[in-house]
Formats: sequence, structure tokens, C-alpha cells
Amino acid sequence: MATVRIVRALRTIALGATILALAACQTNPVTGRKQFIVVSEEAAIASSSQAYVQMLTPYQKAGKLDDDPALTARIVGITERLIPQAIAYRPETASWKWSVKVIDDPKTINAWCMAGGKMAFYTGLIVALNPTDDEIAQVMGHEIAHALSKHQVEKMSRQVATQLGVQVLSIITGPQYGQIVGSAATQAAQVTLTLPNSRQAESEADRIGIELAAKAGYDPRAAVTLWQKMAKATGSAGKGDFMSTHPAPEKRMEALAALAPQMMQFYENKAPRPVFRLRAALDQAVFIALNSGAR
Ligand SMILES: [Zn+2]
Repeated sequence: MATVRIVRALRTIALGATILALAACQTNPVTGRKQFIVVSEEAAIASSSQAYVQMLTPYQKAGKLDDDPALTARIVGITERLIPQAIAYRPETASWKWSVKVIDDPKTINAWCMAGGKMAFYTGLIVALNPTDDEIAQVMGHEIAHALSKHQVEKMSRQVATQLGVQVLSIITGPQYGQIVGSAATQAAQVTLTLPNSRQAESEADRIGIELAAKAGYDPRAAVTLWQKMAKATGSAGKGDFMSTHPAPEKRMEALAALAPQMMQFYENKAPRPVFRLRAALDQAVFIALNSGAR
């Protein structure tokens, strides 16, 4: 038992040293903006993959995951057209284990895309907005744009750095070092989904998201109507999960309305739209992990 503790402690210290050694100001791969990143994107993707299973498990057990075949097919179909455009932006994301799940939670107006391309879409968006396919594509394009731009990696960097300090201190001062950084990182991956993005990050995701959607064949003018609906549905009620994690940049509507005409050329392009098939095998792998985790 003592050996296990020592190994864990050494692992924690080694990982801590690695993370701190990686501390650096990096350039955003899509926008060129400087970002403070202390967690590698690979580490964020690994943690997010575990967090994804943990977050979906309660819904799966309750029979509230992909329980409406028609809606699931709709969301998957839209996402499958967006992913090739994301890969065109960042070719290395072709190796991401992309996934989208529809969560039956009519009170939650939300959607997200983790580092590494693991996505969720909550049925509250359908209930509150009754969105068109073009508007759904704007939501998912915006979420994918956050992942492409490493916005969650930025937030995780702050979160993990804080938690890591606590972990290392606990190793030195007491017996409470059973919790390893791995689980802390998984928690960070979950927590950061609930932390707001900066307005600058929002502007980036708006701009990239509308372009991804237009190139996938979705009307860029829907970006404006989507946010109008979103503001109306969540603005005054104070229950806007989406609006709390996606604070509106100044003049969002005007910026999107100005971008839309520039995007029409992509939308009206008659060339065939590529589709990225989200393989059934991949979904099964998630469920195997879910079920084995339940035992
Ligand atoms: Zn956002």
C-alpha cells in the first residue's frame, strides 16, 4: 500500500514538473492570437475523453442519451457536415475521436465541444429556440470553433495550475495525496465547461463558427437569428446555461450581420459538401467505457 502511495506521489510530482515545464505563451493555431497555455492540448484531450464518459454516464443510465432517433439523426447529420470543415482548418484534427451525443434535458439550454471533438447537444435548445437546421449548425459550428481555437485548453491551464499547487502541497504536508493529478485533470475538464469564455474567445468562435457552417452549406444569416432567439429565450430568465458560458461580446449581432454577406460565397458554392461519418464503432466504444465504468 505504501509503495502504491509512493508511486502515485512520484507520478504526481513528475506530471507536475512536466506541466510546469510546458508553461509557455503559445500562438493560437487558427487566429494567431497569443494564449497562455500550461497544459498540452494532448493532455486536455485525454482528460476530456474521461470527463466525457463521466458526464454522459448518468444520462445513459437514465435512458436520456440519444433517446430520440429522429433528433439524434438530425444533430449527427449536421455535425457530420461541419467536421470536414474543421479538419480543413486544422488538418491534425482528422485524428480526433469526434463524437456528438444528444442529451434529453429539456431544461438545459446548452451545447459544448470539448478539446478533442467530444460534443453534446441538450434538448433544451430545441424546446427554447425551435431552431432551424441552419441555426443548429451555427450552434455546433461555434462550439467546434472553441475547440479548434483551444479555448478549453486555455481555461484548463488556469484550473489545473491552481489544483496542482494544492496537490503538490498535500503530498508534502499530509496523507491526503491519494487523489492524483489524473482525476484532478478530469475534474478540470468538466469544470472548465461551466466557466465562461472571454469575450475575445467568443468573438473568435463567432467568426470561425459562421465560416465553418457556411462552408458546410448552412445559411450564415442564421447566425444572427440564432443569437436573437438565444437572447430572447435566456436573457431575462437568468437560466441561460449557454449564455453564462458564452458571454456576448460587444456588438455580437452587428459583427455577425457584417460577416454574413462575406460568407454567402461559401454557402452558395455548388460543389459537393464532404461528410465525416461518425462511426457506429466509435459510439460503441463510448458505451463500453460507460458500462465498464459502472461496474
Ligand atoms: Zn462561445
